[in-house]
Amino acid sequence: MTIAQRHLPNTLNLAATAVAAVDLTSLADAKEAIFHAENAGIRLRCLGEGSNVVLMPKVAGLVCYVKDASVALLSRDDESVRIKVGAGKNWHELVEETLSQGWFGLENLSLIPGSVGAAPIQNIGAYGVEVAQLIESVTVMEANQIVCEMPAEDCAFGYRDSIFKARLTSAANAPVILSVTFRLNRRPDVNLSYAELAAFFELEPFQAGTSKSKLPSPGQVANAVAAIRLAKLPDPQEYPNAGSFFKNPVIDADTALRLEARSVRPYKFDKGYKVSAAQLIDRAGWKGKRRGDVGCWPHQPLVLVNYGQASASNLLEFAQEVRQSVAEQFQIQLELEPSVVS
Ligand SMILES: Cc1cc2nc3c(=O)[nH]c(=O)nc-3n(C[C@H](O)[C@H](O)[C@H](O)COP(=O)(O)OP(=O)(O)OC[C@H]3O[C@@H](n4cnc5c(N)ncnc54)[C@H](O)[C@@H]3O)c2cc1C
Repeated sequence: MTIAQRHLPNTLNLAATAVAAVDLTSLADAKEAIFHAENAGIRLRCLGEGSNVVLMPKVAGLVCYVKDASVALLSRDDESVRIKVGAGKNWHELVEETLSQGWFGLENLSLIPGSVGAAPIQNIGAYGVEVAQLIESVTVMEANQIVCEMPAEDCAFGYRDSIFKARLTSAANAPVILSVTFRLNRRPDVNLSYAELAAFFELEPFQAGTSKSKLPSPGQVANAVAAIRLAKLPDPQEYPNAGSFFKNPVIDADTALRLEARSVRPYKFDKGYKVSAAQLIDRAGWKGKRRGDVGCWPHQPLVLVNYGQASASNLLEFAQEVRQSVAEQFQIQLELEPSVVS
């Protein structure tokens, strides 16, 4: 295990260096890294593929990369399979591999950048599905170097949230996610609850479990999701970005009424309502706007793009301006989705 200074790759293409970084290729490495961080009095934090972080130029502490990308079949019956996947596995590769095996459920989450280990952190979600619906447990190494298998019920999964996300900002070492166990279906049961996805197949939206005569296959759903995403979202290779920069605000009934009066359309969510942050940003006049090398993507204003040599500070200042203007116009505070890592 070699600890050394390292450039940190990230999809926003920000210049960032870790003072100390290390690859974890075994359980022993993970234990040694935690031991090292504790002894040196520094904080440990894992990173994946850098697609949901704003990295400051110098990242302190010990940055760890879990390299295990294995996929192990734990059990199989007529209905489902259980697979345990190393945190270092690329997410989209996993989606493709499971579909080719006839293991279904991840199709709506096609083409989300990043690693399997990061997926539970913010409970990745897209097109009507959240990964929490498919997770059985998460294997975590704790600060005391004990490995524990956390059942999904204990992970406090919510909208772009989990118990792990809360722990990223606490003073103690951040959790090290080693692997994730998924339960996937062996029978296709597609979820077309997201209107835009259902419309792709000229269908009305419906949940998984609905019996319909003519349904697309999970593979067709994955292809449709990919096509919709490619049309709407900038490719980070060409236009560096971190996906949605802001979460969709969860609001109460009074706020929903107030917004409706201003022709903003909140929608039912859980016990309250959610409103599209993209709509608020658009209405506040930010869609397609640029300041130097930072801008709001013209086709999806939730996405902030680094058009050149922007720094983390440039991005955060721009994001703050957007937040302030939405707060002034709609009295709603937007929350950042990516983690800021310094
Ligand atoms: C173009 C684009 C589109 C996107 N679309 C979506 C979308 O539709 N839905 C969605 O939910 N997200 C989306 N994202 C965000 C991003 O893809 C996900 O959040 C992804 O899970 C991040 O994975 P990563 O490996 O890049 O994590 P990183 O960005 O490297 O890390 C993210 C967080 O996870 C922590 N972390 C990473 N690995 C571990 C580990 N092994 N143990 C403990 N902590 C860890 C990090 O400390 C950090 O806080 C998008 C991003 C981009 C660039």
